[in-house]
Amino acid sequence: MRVTWAVTSTGGDLSFRLDPEDEITGRASDDYPVKLATNSCSIGGVPGDAHPDLFAVAAWTVVAPWTRRRIVFDRAISAELAAVLHDGWGVEAGPVGAQARQAGRTLAISYSGGADSVAAATIYPEAPFVHFQRVAHRRVPNRWPHYRADVLAELAATTGRAVSTVTSDLEFTLAEPRPGYPEHHAVAAGALLLADRLDLGGLAFGYELGSRWLGGDRYLLRYTPDNPMWAPHSRWGRLFAAAGVPIALPVGGVSEAITMRVAMSSDLKGQVRWCLRGTSGPCRTCGKCLYKELIQAAVERRPLDTPLTADRPVVRKWLGKPPYGGQEMIEYGLARVPGIENTVFARALDYFEATEESTSWLDHCYPLAVDEIPPQWRDQAAAFMTAHVGFMTEAEARRVETWGL
Ligand SMILES: [Zn+2]
Repeated sequence: MRVTWAVTSTGGDLSFRLDPEDEITGRASDDYPVKLATNSCSIGGVPGDAHPDLFAVAAWTVVAPWTRRRIVFDRAISAELAAVLHDGWGVEAGPVGAQARQAGRTLAISYSGGADSVAAATIYPEAPFVHFQRVAHRRVPNRWPHYRADVLAELAATTGRAVSTVTSDLEFTLAEPRPGYPEHHAVAAGALLLADRLDLGGLAFGYELGSRWLGGDRYLLRYTPDNPMWAPHSRWGRLFAAAGVPIALPVGGVSEAITMRVAMSSDLKGQVRWCLRGTSGPCRTCGKCLYKELIQAAVERRPLDTPLTADRPVVRKWLGKPPYGGQEMIEYGLARVPGIENTVFARALDYFEATEESTSWLDHCYPLAVDEIPPQWRDQAAAFMTAHVGFMTEAEARRVETWGL
């Protein structure tokens, strides 16, 4: 793999050339199969003078799935970064010849506007935001025109925080499964290139308990202390740390019920938006809206409010047998939403014996998650959890550690 960055007046253009051993099919770090569409993308709203290791890590979030044995960057990287690429991916990286980047003093939030990232932001009221905004690719047709990235960016700009909005078409480098991040970390490509400008010494993401510890989303659905994407000792954790931007997961120890409650009682609640479709509000008819509605209804202890019926395709995944992605929150909702037996989730009741007691561990914070936060930001998260959430008992922590076994 050969990587070239061209600095433009508005940011950087990344292009890459595959070596003979490279392939246009690959797997993201969560093992999900991905297919390459095109070998260039742009990142706007970033400076052109970032540390070479930041350019390298930003590029790696896009090219990692296709690279088999070696990668040649267009500017020399540090020996430390090359070592992590070698140990983590088995890839020879170079040329080597730069001093490693020293971590800065600021923690920024990779801010999407969803409940999880709003909750992370609430823990650090002084932290600036970096917001990733998808824009069209000049050569790849947009098959997802209903995705209103512009609406999310407008909301981010009205939070009152310092916001750096990064525009990018990098999701269009993927042909399959659809426009999306080649690696989950590609959402941070712009934040990485801004790290020197913002004096970043850490980058916080809104990944919660399910994503970090329970193998949620499209991942394994079991307890994952060695989660390859988000554990500090994982290859990605070590790579970001080597570039002086260690990953922080402020809400990595709490469920989506807690991030929902925290987000909805925060100063930013007017800007919370998890749906990518609606313009003046959530669309209420996509799968994500239904899932979040279940969680919100459970947190607010009110009946489910949805126009969706069981014959709709987006409902279908919860009519079959588990396991489901986000299953812990389905159980949580089944146990708490009044009248759930008369809703589209009625069929799921057949598979679970969920009660408030059996799901109460999801109301507390898994302590090991706080221990993983870089030291300079750990106490603030711990104090927040103590004041607003409470930590799991040993018995509750065991529910995390036996999940999916
Ligand atoms: Zn929606």
